[in-house]
Amino acid sequence: MTMRISAVETFIVTVPRDTPYLGPLGPGEHVNARGYLVRQGNGTIYPTVDRSVAVRVTAADGSIGWGETYGICAPRATCEIINDLLAPVLTGSEVDDVPATWDRLYDLMRVRGCWAGFHGDALAAIDIALWDLAGKAKGRPVRELIGPAVHSVIPSYLSGLPAATLAERVDLALNWQARGITAFKFAAVVSHEGIVEEMAALRSALGPDADILIDLHWKFEPAEARALIARLEPYRPGFVEAPLKPEDMSGLASLAAASPVPVAAGEEWYTSYEFANRLAFGPIAFVQPEMGHTGITQFLRIAEMAAQHGIAVAPHATIGAGIFLAASLQASATLPGLWKHEWQHSVFERNLKGLETDMGHGPEGYRLPSGPGLGVEPGHAFWAAAEAVA
Ligand code: MG
Repeated sequence: MTMRISAVETFIVTVPRDTPYLGPLGPGEHVNARGYLVRQGNGTIYPTVDRSVAVRVTAADGSIGWGETYGICAPRATCEIINDLLAPVLTGSEVDDVPATWDRLYDLMRVRGCWAGFHGDALAAIDIALWDLAGKAKGRPVRELIGPAVHSVIPSYLSGLPAATLAERVDLALNWQARGITAFKFAAVVSHEGIVEEMAALRSALGPDADILIDLHWKFEPAEARALIARLEPYRPGFVEAPLKPEDMSGLASLAAASPVPVAAGEEWYTSYEFANRLAFGPIAFVQPEMGHTGITQFLRIAEMAAQHGIAVAPHATIGAGIFLAASLQASATLPGLWKHEWQHSVFERNLKGLETDMGHGPEGYRLPSGPGLGVEPGHAFWAAAEAVA
């Protein structure tokens, strides 16, 4: 079905939060004049609000597709790439093949080195919106356009234990366990009492059957990571995530090959081109595509490549308004190699307040939205948080 595109618009969606992402401020951390803090544990900048960039694509018949991407930092950069560069190319054109459209838009800037980053985010948002439009044009959920949906519920793991002390984080995990949650990930960057200590305390509290995962936030040199993993192994983490700096492709493959604990990575990767380059060094156990960076087209290409190499897919979830999360669930529903999808409970609960959707979450995992396209539409709270950017 061909869709003629008549308009592409961008919005910054900002939602205040009581506790900064990853938990209260640690020693030496402060908020700057632009509302950002730099986490001492990983040197990464975060805002004190939840923020993303949403894209509305309108077809000539008046139907609307929604997309979304990262807007955590410098969201106007992404809006400008869409408004100045991608929207004018797309507007007035006919779209009948969304992946081919991703390729066409990627071609515009690939030889200038725009393979990822803000440019990749802009591509992802538009790609998601076009898939939403295509689903609505056919009156079917996006997952049914991709292929047979092999999961009716998307299994998940709880991500993040935002509390100031280890004792409080253990209590938080126990509370969730009492509500039926069986898989947990903690962010080592805020393990102020020690990473091994946190793993040991959680294993002791949650028992032998809980899945406990550790996000290492790209913090370590290879030798440090090997030593740390050796100390963690007795407590049987389900995986260690992002142990090394993002650029160390050969180091990650070597570590994964020798590690007694499965290694996961990939939330910062944008395309199957990058994944292929990494696979040339060797596989990892889990790949973690992030829909807000990849869009549906590249998410699926990465997952297909993972399947060919026997790598499990554990999709990442991050700060957003819930639109790219819905896209991630739609795509995940079609993956035979899906393990568990990340569940950022503190973000997702607010997402549901901003959207019109029957998407949800329970102890068994995410409930897929039933509507056509992505199955989510902006509601009153979304519009109260949204600012149009021309
Ligand atoms: Mg992570």
